[in-house]
Amino acid sequence: MTDRHATSVDPATGALLERYPLHDDAAVDAALGRARAAQLRWWDAGFEHRAEVLRAIARELRAEQEPLAQLICAEMGKTLREARAEVEKSAWVCEYYADNGADQLAREPIATEWSETYVQFPPLGVVLAVMPWNYPVWQVMRAAAPALMAGNTFVLKHASNVTGCALALGELIARVEASLMEVVVIGGRDVARVIADDRIAAVTLTGSEGAGVAVATACAQALKPSVLELGGSDPFVVLHDADIDAAADMGVRARFSNTGQSCVAAKRFIVVEQVADAFEEAFAARAAALVMGDPREEVDLGPMARVDLRDELADQVARGVAAGGRVLAGGEVPDGPGAYYAPTVVGGVAPDSPLAREETFGPAAAVLRVPDEEAAIALANASPYGLSSSVWSRDVERVKTLARRVEAGAVFVNTMTASDPRVPFGGVKRSGWGRELGAFGIREFVNVQAITVA
Ligand code: NAP
Repeated sequence: MTDRHATSVDPATGALLERYPLHDDAAVDAALGRARAAQLRWWDAGFEHRAEVLRAIARELRAEQEPLAQLICAEMGKTLREARAEVEKSAWVCEYYADNGADQLAREPIATEWSETYVQFPPLGVVLAVMPWNYPVWQVMRAAAPALMAGNTFVLKHASNVTGCALALGELIARVEASLMEVVVIGGRDVARVIADDRIAAVTLTGSEGAGVAVATACAQALKPSVLELGGSDPFVVLHDADIDAAADMGVRARFSNTGQSCVAAKRFIVVEQVADAFEEAFAARAAALVMGDPREEVDLGPMARVDLRDELADQVARGVAAGGRVLAGGEVPDGPGAYYAPTVVGGVAPDSPLAREETFGPAAAVLRVPDEEAAIALANASPYGLSSSVWSRDVERVKTLARRVEAGAVFVNTMTASDPRVPFGGVKRSGWGRELGAFGIREFVNVQAITVA
């Protein structure tokens, strides 16, 4: 963001794509007014109408899949293949809530001595969504679909570097029905003022820990509820009886998909000593074989989203090496334009290394060795974050017992973490609070209203 503009830059080339003027106070005020007015009508329209609208939004997303994918790719550099899949998944989440939202929010009777007691779930009102750039369409739709199905309307403040995506999505939804999603083009520092506005009932943020603290503080001051989906440093635990080839194959996808820029990417590979040499070798060979390049071509990974983020990752790797890590693959900033960083694996990472303690939001994996399973779980939990996790072993029943002790919002056994509209998603500790997706997600932005009839 520069001098009251949000700037889009193609990270593959460094070329300036667009400068979008920020909205002034009057424009923000008008957007909030429209969202509030629309919400009353939208809720009155009932579940059936809202389901139809969500299905129509899904159809629009599919119809616009290619231009949206091109825009995602241009603004933040993910491969076109991944961008197309992101748009398809966004259509799926709309259909999922169209099919299931009414049942998930059905009235619940409670047996009492009164003639009738039940709980119902009216919407809260207008939800402000502060969103990140890493999945510019999916992150928005995974928050919007349940909120809308419940009868809320939505105000979107997107990350400044994907303002084109934000405006395209706003226009797409407005073609189906006006003012369900109002887009405000503002900077992070203008968010607290919007949170304080009486027309905003609740806030959902997906972003970094720093943004989480700022948004949570503003919500506390305004006494408004929030869902916070923040950073992670997910462990990928390889136990002595794991299928090493399968773990290495999936580990590469878990770390390097989306050029490593995923909150639930595997970041700390915690491997039991007995199989550590075999895993490191298999994993580093696969990482080194990944093809990095122009995201519009058939490549495995494109550039990172911004040069400053690439430089930050390079600095983390340098500090990790200074703290005793060994580069097993990559570790270089390639020559030439663009925010590229070679897929990197660092072995011999110590528990207090920056690569273990900090979130690495890009294509760099840290491998840590532990003597046994107990030490693996202890190290997995030795992080301020608790988003998701992955544990590998041929003894699934043993891992299911271990899973209870993993301090994370999810445990994936013998596979990688992936979000799914049907399954709740969210973290503990400094990864945030609240849940998105599934039946839990749609209940975040409703009033749990108890009705008692004498
Ligand atoms: P970010 O810098 O925190 O930005 C996220 C959003 O917050 C943007 O819209 C940003 O606006 C806004 N923002 C930044 N500082 C703010 C402040 N002080 N007050 C209010 N709003 C503020 O994060 P990012 O770089 O876009 O995304 C990467 C981070 O998101 C990583 O930490 C990642 O783990 C996390 N993430 C979490 C999940 C999850 O589900 N848990 C999913 C994806 C990403 P501007 O762009 O205008 O600054």
